[in-house]
Amino acid sequence: MKPVLHINMADEGGKVYCCLRNRVVNLNEAQKTKYCSGCGMFAGFAGDLGVECLWEDVRLVNDPHIAADPMAEFTSNQIKPVPADYLSTYGALEP
Ligand code: SF4
Repeated sequence: MKPVLHINMADEGGKVYCCLRNRVVNLNEAQKTKYCSGCGMFAGFAGDLGVECLWEDVRLVNDPHIAADPMAEFTSNQIKPVPADYLSTYGALEP
């Protein structure tokens, strides 16, 4: 699966969705230094307007994917599609 560039724009409260922590976080200095600086997904700070994160996304999204609503982005990331081949494999394991 190809990595997708996620451009997480900070909302009016300075919050973004963080994939690493799987939560909405304040994009403050603590987040930047404690998490983003050592994160393998880090791809920049979007011109100080947010954070750019590169990761493989199972959702059907554009590349780059621009997330302007961090809570909507969080919610969307809790719904994981199940691949059809997994379903057929699971069915074969049923007694
Ligand atoms: S770079 Fe990593 S730690 Fe920082 S917001 Fe993105 S996923 Fe979270």
